[in-house]
Amino acid sequence: MTGTSVRAETPIDFQTWLDGVRSEALAKGIRAGTLDAALNGVAPVERVLELDRSQPEFSHTFWSYMDLLAPQSRVTKAREMAQTHAPLLNAVSQRYGVQTRFLVAFWGLESSFGKHTGSFPVIDSVATLAHDERRAEFFRAQLFDALSILDDGHIALPQMKGSWAGAMGQLQFIPSTFVGYATDGDGDGKIDIWNSLPDVFSSAANYLSSIGWNSDETWGREVTLPADFDLELADLDTRKPIGDWQALGVRRANGADLPVADIEGSILLPSGIRGPAFLVYNNFRVIMQWNASINYALTIGYLSDRVKGQGPLLTPRPANVQPLLRDNVLEMQRLLNAQGYDTGTPDGIAGPMTRKALKRYQKDMGLPPDGYPSVEVLAMLRGEGG
Ligand code: CA
Repeated sequence: MTGTSVRAETPIDFQTWLDGVRSEALAKGIRAGTLDAALNGVAPVERVLELDRSQPEFSHTFWSYMDLLAPQSRVTKAREMAQTHAPLLNAVSQRYGVQTRFLVAFWGLESSFGKHTGSFPVIDSVATLAHDERRAEFFRAQLFDALSILDDGHIALPQMKGSWAGAMGQLQFIPSTFVGYATDGDGDGKIDIWNSLPDVFSSAANYLSSIGWNSDETWGREVTLPADFDLELADLDTRKPIGDWQALGVRRANGADLPVADIEGSILLPSGIRGPAFLVYNNFRVIMQWNASINYALTIGYLSDRVKGQGPLLTPRPANVQPLLRDNVLEMQRLLNAQGYDTGTPDGIAGPMTRKALKRYQKDMGLPPDGYPSVEVLAMLRGEGG
């Protein structure tokens, strides 16, 4: 304890606040020279605050997310990269127990294979967000981790760049993920997730295997559901052995039996009953620890399958997928709340609680309870017929 702790709710001028950070960092054992170089002249970055406060106009759909992050061009590039770097990827895969195709998929989604790693100085961004009241505690911890990365000499200050929110290098690791899981793959004594591919791949694989990846299993697969499938079972909270899903009539997307394996899975319908269905396994949950978005995790799984040579999804894309505006989702949440279907505090994001409330509403209205926030359900909630 240093006696300089800052209460997050108190607006405090940046320089005074930064002096407190400096004292606390010194007490944590970070060298004065590192702190002088990293913190002198740091000032709040207005653009970072703007980006942190901006909200996207549209709420992504499964398809818009896939189009953005796994278009055919990225599939082609991912296959090329898997070939080009096969010897290194194979060595890392064997050492850590993560299949190479997943390493390539994360690399592709996070930075377009190293092309877009971010150009914001990390210390400045993270300090800005740590001083801001909204997520002060989280970013204060990130700031100490970022300073310790510099203090350990892994990267020089001018090269320590990242996204506006402090995600760094070819995998967009935040400082705490770097400190917890990044590793020195090429053995030069530094962990360089910006420039060294052995470090990039080893760090990704070490992170995944540390949080529970199992290389004997895949992430999941596209499936078909029988006509009488109980849609309330389509939820990450419902886990059943593959054999039980097979008994309920779930099949591979091509109609073949599910694999015989002693693992559990959950059924997901990311774009409702008119979209594809997926059976997802434990590795899917590991991907969601990396990024807690179902669409992100599905896209990683999909891209990894494409790297392996698999084709596109078999479920045809509906002709008119209308993405909902964020304001529409907000309105839907307010209407559901008003009608007794609790979505929590309306935030414009159709998360698990909103989907559960939607399912109950759909069931009561005699609709297929897929929990998908469609334009049609919104119209019905507004009382516009249906
Ligand atoms: Ca290294």
